[in-house]
Amino acid sequence: MAPRSILLADQPVLRQKSRRVPRPTPEIHALIQDMWETMRAARGVGLAAVQIGIPLRVIVVEIPEDMEDPHAGTSLALINPELIRMSHETEEGVEGCLSVPGWVGTVPRSIEVVVKGMDPKGKPVRLKARGYLARVLQHEIDHTEGVLFIDRATEVWSVEEGEEEQEEARAAGKKV
Ligand code: ZN
Repeated sequence: MAPRSILLADQPVLRQKSRRVPRPTPEIHALIQDMWETMRAARGVGLAAVQIGIPLRVIVVEIPEDMEDPHAGTSLALINPELIRMSHETEEGVEGCLSVPGWVGTVPRSIEVVVKGMDPKGKPVRLKARGYLARVLQHEIDHTEGVLFIDRATEVWSVEEGEEEQEEARAAGKKV
């Protein structure tokens, strides 16, 4: 197990819809482990399996403990995550993506969402998220549908590679 390379936006697989996972297997557990390592090595807050070239509906999310956010410190791996409720109320925020280095953009997202899925043990999960966690979940679930933040952004601008983080920090974000 090791961090894997993250695919960039020009890779066609990132535009595919990922497949559902029937049940967690040892292979899925190994995939999730690699995803944690890959996301942490890249200092991201979220990663979808398709970003390492595996088009399966698996995401990992980790909101840093030092963020001023009610969900700070939340860490979760979800299989077959699905948005079952999205607030009509949206807010704009700055996002970047590990697959789109050097770019950030302003993206409107629902303020509150309800997501259901399965945890790595196969137990059904249903969770309500607000604010930043809601944003990250929407971003990652978009990846499972072949959608990138640049598709939804109202404005996109380039930043020096490695400076996405500072740019997003201003909007209380990190790379996802
Ligand atoms: Zn992303």
